[in-house]
Amino acid sequence: MNLLFSNATILPMTAVGDEPKTFTGCVGVLGNRIALVSSSVDDAAAFCAAHPDVRTIDCTGKLLMPGLVNTHCHAAMTLQRSYADDLTLMTWLNDYIWPFERRQTADDVALGMTLGIVEMLLGGVTSFVDMYYYENSCVDVVRRLGIRAMLGCNYFDNNIEEVFPQVEEAVQKAADCARIQIAVAAHAPYTVSAENMRRGKELARRLGLHFMTHIAETQDEMNYVRENFGCTPVEHLDKLGVLDDKTIGAHCIHVCDSDIATLAARGVAVSHNPQSNMKIANGAAPVEKMRTAGVLVTLGTDGTCSNNDLDLLEELRTAVFLQKTATGNPLALPVYEALKLVTVNGARALGYADGELGVIREGALADLIVIDMQAPHLQPIHNVVSNLVFCGKASDVETVVVDGRLVVENRVVTGVDLPQLYADVAKAIKRITENN
Ligand SMILES: [Zn+2]
Repeated sequence: MNLLFSNATILPMTAVGDEPKTFTGCVGVLGNRIALVSSSVDDAAAFCAAHPDVRTIDCTGKLLMPGLVNTHCHAAMTLQRSYADDLTLMTWLNDYIWPFERRQTADDVALGMTLGIVEMLLGGVTSFVDMYYYENSCVDVVRRLGIRAMLGCNYFDNNIEEVFPQVEEAVQKAADCARIQIAVAAHAPYTVSAENMRRGKELARRLGLHFMTHIAETQDEMNYVRENFGCTPVEHLDKLGVLDDKTIGAHCIHVCDSDIATLAARGVAVSHNPQSNMKIANGAAPVEKMRTAGVLVTLGTDGTCSNNDLDLLEELRTAVFLQKTATGNPLALPVYEALKLVTVNGARALGYADGELGVIREGALADLIVIDMQAPHLQPIHNVVSNLVFCGKASDVETVVVDGRLVVENRVVTGVDLPQLYADVAKAIKRITENN
């Protein structure tokens, strides 16, 4: 179906310098691409005349912007939302998360992934980077729900032989679907040996895939890497040759100036996860320092067991507040720069060329969201970008298009029976946690 969004306040994320950030106009979509971006009513009429099958969506009083990109999450962990809170990291992992995960089947993971994707789509997330196990079982879920994804097959030292074949299987399953990428995901420098870290990157290179890992998340990790390798996690990974522009590093909280220079020089995409970092009391990543040093900084929610939701707009607000607090500088991470984290920067982290995704321009992939600004917390509109970043919520997202396809319309996800989904989740949880 071809689409025309008319009378919208358009935030294309293409403004340079002091150029206006928004304008009123229309956006036309043909197939999976944006075919028209214009402020002219005549252009809108001509587009409709040239494409009689076009469906027009009136966006009066609404904001149209690129879909949001969540660059780090464990979507299937929705099953563990609020299962284990207010605990130290090791108690959380040893007594709750890992026993729970040992009782999960591949079907449970696909179910958790479904719930996670539905939550993200309803909140305007059109692309996400995942890191979990059984990703090979989640390809069909992603395909069916219509979201864009990079599925990172997560491995530890103890399951690497099991996971590597799953990477190849997932690549084959996703081969006919351009919006699904598979990636290799090493858990972290303290759970994956140097040799296995290198093997993961080699596999990724051989298959032309991205590689990802958690980096410098906790003080314990810093101590472990210092004791075992005599350096920082970034130095360790750099020595192993795994850092390049097809690597995504989640967290990067404890990074020194030379680490930041390395991340910038190698072109690593950093996924900042402020709410998870705050909840587990791991500290504040030096986002402003990284950003101004030329590191590609993006934003992620992390899993719902350490957040506990997948609301990326709320995450964005937290990122801005945390950066201002941590630096003692109210000028740190200005709102428009912050918005780039979840749009243009996120798209680059996924490997898309500049202008291909994360922006509204003719020729770009049509991943778009409509935000209803007619809500008390979004009025009045002195500055629409400020309102979006400081006041926007997932529930303000009304309509979502991924790859030219309407996947959420008037806050309803296409093709999902929500009461049935909640019932299926409750049933799975009961089985996983009973006799525990
Ligand atoms: Zn994580």
